[in-house]
Amino acid sequence: MTKYTPMMEQYLAVKETAKDAFLFFRLGDFYELFFDDAVRAAQELEITLTGRDGGQQERIPMCGVPYHAAENYIAKLVERGYKVAICEQVEDPATAKGVVRREIVKIVTPGTVMESRSLGEARNNYIACVAGTNGVYGLAACDLTTGELFVTVVEESAEVLIDELGVYSPSELVGRSALLEQLTGVEANGEETSEREPAAEAGAAYSLAKLVTRWEQSADADALSGQFPAAQLASLQPAQHEAVALLMGYLSETQKRALAHITAIQLYEHRQSMTLDPFTRRNLELVETVRERTKKGSLLWLLDRTVTSMGGRLLRRWVDKPLLSRAKIEERLEAVETLYNKLIDREELRQQLKEVYDLQRLVGRIAYGNANARDMLALRVSLEQVPALKASCLASGSSTLRALAESLDEVADLRDRIAAAIVDEPPVSVREGGFIREGYHSYLDQLKEASSNGKLWLAELEKRERELTGVKTLKIGFNKVFGYFLEASRASAGSLPADRYERKQTLANAERYVTPELKEKETLILEAEEKMVGLEYELFQELRQTASDELKRLQRLAEAIATIDALQSLAAVSAAYRYVKPELADSGALRVEEGRHPVVEAILKQGAFMANDTALSEEDGLVMLITGPNMAGKSTYMRQVATICIMAQIGCFVPAARARIPIIDRIFTRIGAADDLVGGQSTFMVEMMDIQAMTAKATPRSLVIIDELGRGTSTGEGMAIAQAVIEFLHDRIGCRTLVSTHFHELAHLEERLPSLRNYCMAVKESGQQVTFLRRLIRGAASTSYGIYCARIAGLPDPIIERAYSLLGEFESRGALRQARDEAAAGQAQPAGAPPLPPQAPDAAPAVQLSLFGGEPAAPPPNKLSKREAAAAAAADKLYAQLRSADLINMTPMQAMNLLYELQRQTQER
Ligand code: ADP
Repeated sequence: MTKYTPMMEQYLAVKETAKDAFLFFRLGDFYELFFDDAVRAAQELEITLTGRDGGQQERIPMCGVPYHAAENYIAKLVERGYKVAICEQVEDPATAKGVVRREIVKIVTPGTVMESRSLGEARNNYIACVAGTNGVYGLAACDLTTGELFVTVVEESAEVLIDELGVYSPSELVGRSALLEQLTGVEANGEETSEREPAAEAGAAYSLAKLVTRWEQSADADALSGQFPAAQLASLQPAQHEAVALLMGYLSETQKRALAHITAIQLYEHRQSMTLDPFTRRNLELVETVRERTKKGSLLWLLDRTVTSMGGRLLRRWVDKPLLSRAKIEERLEAVETLYNKLIDREELRQQLKEVYDLQRLVGRIAYGNANARDMLALRVSLEQVPALKASCLASGSSTLRALAESLDEVADLRDRIAAAIVDEPPVSVREGGFIREGYHSYLDQLKEASSNGKLWLAELEKRERELTGVKTLKIGFNKVFGYFLEASRASAGSLPADRYERKQTLANAERYVTPELKEKETLILEAEEKMVGLEYELFQELRQTASDELKRLQRLAEAIATIDALQSLAAVSAAYRYVKPELADSGALRVEEGRHPVVEAILKQGAFMANDTALSEEDGLVMLITGPNMAGKSTYMRQVATICIMAQIGCFVPAARARIPIIDRIFTRIGAADDLVGGQSTFMVEMMDIQAMTAKATPRSLVIIDELGRGTSTGEGMAIAQAVIEFLHDRIGCRTLVSTHFHELAHLEERLPSLRNYCMAVKESGQQVTFLRRLIRGAASTSYGIYCARIAGLPDPIIERAYSLLGEFESRGALRQARDEAAAGQAQPAGAPPLPPQAPDAAPAVQLSLFGGEPAAPPPNKLSKREAAAAAAADKLYAQLRSADLINMTPMQAMNLLYELQRQTQER
């Protein structure tokens, strides 16, 4: 068997250590990919697949990208959830013996990108790591670009862990295979191909992260104690410690460098914030919309008037994690209230913040050694805003802002040092000099002077020689090959005195000359310039090191500025839409007067949104059962209630005339439209799973929202489940609950469940027209208007007519059977009450309507008593009248009369 060439052998050895990544193998000016990597990369990146003779019989598939354009290609792969290992030549090819040594210098993964256009400024890019077993899980989430590391422990269940992970929506999730398997439900198999599969494609139940990486290697104790203060490490529980150690192990493996900006472990208790499962986050459109998955149209989009990127990211975290501590919420509300009332102060703050750059990411670049002179300038300009910012906060009159201001460290020493060192308009590159300010370093100044004196001398030489020779076109030039020279046009060259200069180069229309004196000065100038460039770079590195020593101070400052920014943002939005300060309580009634849905209101024409009240308490009822036609505004109303609670608990004013919000510990939503198609679950199954989670986790302090309960199955079953769920929430949990349903038949529950109230969305009917008033009123809707909707949707008249007539049949049959059932059970129903749905799951099967016009599913009893027979006959009569009624040719008044007549007959029974 033929062997591979030595270089291919090297490639294969390196590839062996980076199986789950695309290996970018540096060959001269290109990164090359081989074998399967090449085939797949060629597809993903749309580049040409070629081949290479590798010493084997067949050619090896190959493709490549030029090294200077690699950034974009790498970003593309990483955005799609892949990893890219960068393998560089680590010795000089000119002096290397044999094959140039190559090593992987970095592995770029979705969770560890540092520079990419895919990194949104206003959002964090998290890599999360989970660890632990037996119901105690550690979670560590890190944003490598800012150095923030959040750590918590989850002691409830794997689902709670998943909920908490959802807060971060990490780009990458790391953990031991066993635990990941449990979380993702994805079989961990050792096959190579699947190792590189992004989670979304690997068929995870729903994706926890863009990429899921199995990782077993913890950082050792020395590495950890070098990274974090001992006290912080000591305060970690075992599962948290494991998560941090695993994560740091993975980061060090992929980054292969010190991570000086990860300075602190921010330990927090996840129960200090409202728990929202991933579905609820999506359903309530907190940070992105359900359909487009964009920020535009979400709550965050509305609330985000932050000026800095750090403020933007913090606000997103606030929206993701509404608080549970009343004191902490009040603190934020206090600042928001102050700024709400002071437009001028708010504007002043915004102006000051405008000049503040993204300190957190600057810190990341400083730690990575990527920061250039412009970054330093940005740091200086940002730090220069701090004194004014501090003064504004101190003068604002808000105690929250005052406390923040007092904590602001101006980092004046570093600011002044940068100001002294870096010029006001530095170039991008730090390798070519030209960015250190005069007066910063005396030797550099000397070199600069030597260089500029030399240039002055050159200018004088040019002038002198022109005068002496009388050749006006004579001029000094420079190129890299010949250095400095005197140049004369070909036409005038003849008039130069012979032997005055040494001819160096002849061009088509010019002659170039040098003199010994010129060469001497040239040496001086070039030496000085070379030294200058080297020295500037050295000085810059020193400065970067100085900045790097202050990372912690800078990070704390950044956090405080972000907080000020987020608070002013909430105040600005609250003032713009005239929100009110919510009254918070630890328990008791949830009351909202004239509440609005903030986003729908903002999108609608001004004044077009109808405000509605909410009252959920022991006296007012804890369960609202809302009926009404499609498009009436039920779901908007229910989301509005949840959104108002969330806004209050992040410390924002709320869209209402008045609001009293008892702290809500969790919100559950089950909202019809957002079906989990990705996971391949059936709509109904997903609904039932959500309901299961809600019944298992809801507490009396929770808010539950169920939109269109029981829609995905047959009418009878759907209604039975809906009723059973409502009863369960009502009787066993006692949480605040909003349920919307198109089963207007469920309205009878109000009679049996003391804490349930019927509501409906008012509609105005005139003739064949139905107008939605968007007003919530007490009482139940009499019909679900489904066929009416079908008519609006433009279904042909014959279908609509047939549907109405079938509906008549179904309903009368339902009534008939019910009458029989009741008669059989010997319990007559109170007059005028709506037909009863099945009473309990173990009772007779629900009304099972056959769409093909057959008899109801339940067989009629064999023999009827006298009373039963009378009831059946009365029902039959009603049925016959209804059936024969010629609705099409009736006026509304005639229809009303018929209805009246039929109702009267039922009352006679
Ligand atoms: P349903 O859940 O009853 O089918 P939706 O809540 O989806 O109805 O509301 C339908 C549409 O009505 C929404 O898209 C919204 O634009 C509008 N709407 C809802 N509530 C209001 C309101 N209170 N004021 C004005 N328009 C509203």
